[in-house]
Parts: sequence; structure tokens; C-alpha cells
Amino acid sequence: MSDPFPKVATRRMEELVTELGRVGEQQPGGGLIRFAYDDAWRAAGALVARWMTEVGLQVRTDAVGNVFGRLPGTESASTVLTGSHIDTVRFGGRYDGALGILTGLAAIEELIRTCGRPRRSLELVALCEEESSRFAADFFGSRAMLGTIGPDEPDTLRDADGVTLAAAMRRVGLDPAAIGSARRTDVEAFVELHIEQGRVLYDEGTQIGVVSAITGLRWLDVTVTGRADHAGATPMDLRLDAMQGAAEMTQAATALAEAEGRPAVATCGMWQVHPGGVNIVPERVTFSIDLRHPGEATLDRLAGRIRQECERIATRRGLEVTLDDTKAVAPAPMDEPLQKVIAEAAEGQGVSARPMPSGAGHDSQMWAPHVPTAMIFVPSVEGRSHCPEEYTPAEDCAVGASVLAGTLRDIAY
Ligand SMILES: [Zn+2]
Repeated sequence: MSDPFPKVATRRMEELVTELGRVGEQQPGGGLIRFAYDDAWRAAGALVARWMTEVGLQVRTDAVGNVFGRLPGTESASTVLTGSHIDTVRFGGRYDGALGILTGLAAIEELIRTCGRPRRSLELVALCEEESSRFAADFFGSRAMLGTIGPDEPDTLRDADGVTLAAAMRRVGLDPAAIGSARRTDVEAFVELHIEQGRVLYDEGTQIGVVSAITGLRWLDVTVTGRADHAGATPMDLRLDAMQGAAEMTQAATALAEAEGRPAVATCGMWQVHPGGVNIVPERVTFSIDLRHPGEATLDRLAGRIRQECERIATRRGLEVTLDDTKAVAPAPMDEPLQKVIAEAAEGQGVSARPMPSGAGHDSQMWAPHVPTAMIFVPSVEGRSHCPEEYTPAEDCAVGASVLAGTLRDIAY
């Protein structure tokens, strides 16, 4: 197209981020709490709905509380969807999730002003739940739209106070029996803008990340068993110390990820030592391995090597080891033509962009197996996220919104 590229104003982004960021802000400790179906969540949804109406969108809430603003297309019945989640982690920041909704709002507002009605319908969504902060219902909003919520979830998932998901929904006027009606089959593309939540873009000074794939993940529980003995009376060479074996295993696992290089990561974050006495040689240690990489083959290879190393170390030390796979999430490659559209939109805006994988999970990974899906990353200052310090300057938010606008224009107009 020859017309100028849509530009979202920095001031507009500043205003939107500041106002939504106040909803659920905790005093005086700082940080946000907007958990699915709590009062702040409800207020945030109402505010976004008001903004959608002001911009001229048709507003609707579905059975699980996803809020939609629709700009009907002139020709096709298909929908181009953009947005992200409105819930937060405990003491989270103003940007995670929210920025995808707010840049979507500003982008569509700008497109209406400069280009009028689209050919394909454009829809903005504030997804009700992604973070699993209150219920282990991760990606609840997206999964409702994709029709993949299990029939028993509303009555079996409970928050820390024992409240079921179904009861929490009813409290805000939603009917859990109607979840099936949230399913959508008209969505033909999903584009999500999100903060990077790492520091790659920030360190490089690159303005836009075009996500190539969302990382795959493997969780392993490793249990190492040796023998409990007296810490004073048992010579070092006669011990079967489970902790020493486990320590060597965690080093081996992280060394394998280091040797693989970015973006491979391995984290051993959860430890239990039995019997856990200051004067007892540890008999049994269980620790977790969180392994991530955006390539399935690499993930398989690394998981296999970690298993081999743990077994080798156990054998050498006379210990027993078991490795249990507790979770596996396949990598979600983003749609290549859409990645190209985003890269071109960035080029058109004259901003720097680079392809990159996402190390964090996002709603887009739910959508990717079903419809062409893509993600736009904007920088996170010092890579901080899931904390009150989470920050992306308004200028960077506006650059992201403008690239999103250019992308949506290309797809929907
Ligand atoms: Zn998020």
C-alpha cells in the first residue's frame, strides 16, 4: 500500500497503560492483583469494554468472561483476532497481558481513523484468564474459545480458599453450564502483542521481536536414593549420599543447556531432602528439572542426555535414580507468512526488528495449532516481568501498537 503507515501516539499508550494499571493495584506494597473473576478483574473488564465502545466497536462478553470489541468487515465472515489476557500474577506489573489488549485497542482505533472499515472483521479480545494465578486453569479464556475446556474443570478446580471455578464464575454473573457457547470457529488469524519478559531486545536496543516459536517445555521430577548414615561416624568414602549425587546431576543438566547455548534453558528450582537432618547423610533427594527449547528435536535430545547423565552419575556413586516426566508442552511455531507481515510492518515503520523465540508461555501457543498465529514482542526494561518493576516505556508501547496496526491492516483490509 502506498498510504502512510498507521502510527499510534505515545501519549495515547501512556494514558491507557496508566489507567488500566491502576485497576487492581495493591497498596502500599506495589504490584497488581487481578485474578480471574475477582473484583479488580471485573472492574478491568468493564473499563476495557467502555474503551471499546468509545472507539466504536461492538462489545460483547462471552460465557467465560472474555470481553470482545468487534469491528465488522465489509466482505468476509472471517475474523482477525488480536488481544491478550487481562488477569495478572500475584503482585505483577502493568504490562504483562494488558499491553496486548491496549495496543490492540489503540491500533484498531488508529485503523478506523485512517482506513475505515476492514474487509475481514477485526476483533479485539481481553482474555479472561491465562496466568493460573487463582485456579490451575491456564489459558482458560483461549481454551474456552477453542472448545478445549474439560467438562469437569469448573467444579473440580479450586482456588486457595476452596472456592470452585464454577462458584467464582457465578459470583460475577457467568453460567459455567454455558462454557460451550464460548467456542469460536470463525477466527482465521490471531496476532498477540506482548512484552518480551526477558532482556534480549532491551540489551540489543531492538524495538520489535517477531516471535518465531513459543518454547516447548519438559518437566522432570528426579528422585535420587542413597542411604541415611551418621554424619560423624561414616567416612566420606563409605557414604551413599543422595544429595551429592543430586548436586552433580543438577550441574550436569544445566551444563548441557549451557553447552547447547541460547535459547536452551534448564532450571532445577524445587528441592526436597529427606530426612533433612543437619547430622544425617541425606538418604533421598527429589528435585525438579524445567527444560525449555523452541525445537522439539532439540528438546528430545536434551531430555535424553539429561536422563543418561543422571543414570551415569547414579551408577558411579552407587545410588538409585528415577526420572518421572510430569509435564510436556510441545513448542508452538508461529505462522511464517504472518511473521513476514509483522517484519514488513516494522520495516514500514522504520523500526528495528529481529526474529526470536519466546521462552515464556502465551495464549498464542493455544491458538497456533488451530489458526495462523503470530506474536509481536516489545522490550522489557532490564528484562523484568512478573513483578511490580515490570516496565516498557510508552514510546516502545506506541511503536509496538503501530507495528500491530500495520500488521492488522495488511491482514484485514
Ligand atoms: Zn502474559
